[in-house]
Amino acid sequence: MHEMSLAEGIRQIVEDAGCSQGFHKVKTVVLEIGQLSSVEPDSLRFCFDVVMQDSIAAGAALQIDSVPGSGWCMQCAETVPVAALYDPCPKCGSYQVQATGGTEMRVKELEIE
Ligand SMILES: [Zn+2]
Repeated sequence: MHEMSLAEGIRQIVEDAGCSQGFHKVKTVVLEIGQLSSVEPDSLRFCFDVVMQDSIAAGAALQIDSVPGSGWCMQCAETVPVAALYDPCPKCGSYQVQATGGTEMRVKELEIE
């Protein structure tokens, strides 16, 4: 499952941060998930709880901030909002839109105890 490996990646980031910054308990993990990242927040939540069980973020809350997608339209030569990957430009209908924002998932913040 895609989300399971993502959750494992998050655990790695959290544990590395705990090591280098010297904390041992994480209360909340704040994630930014781009609308174009094809990450399913609900299944990520489920995997997160499972994967974090034996980590410093065991029982931590998962807060998900959604980042709207954006892309560069070749026809309009400007940045346009994009709701889903491979959607046409909302202004001119062209499919020559290159996704430029909201394509990633990242750990934004860790709230520690
Ligand atoms: Zn356009």
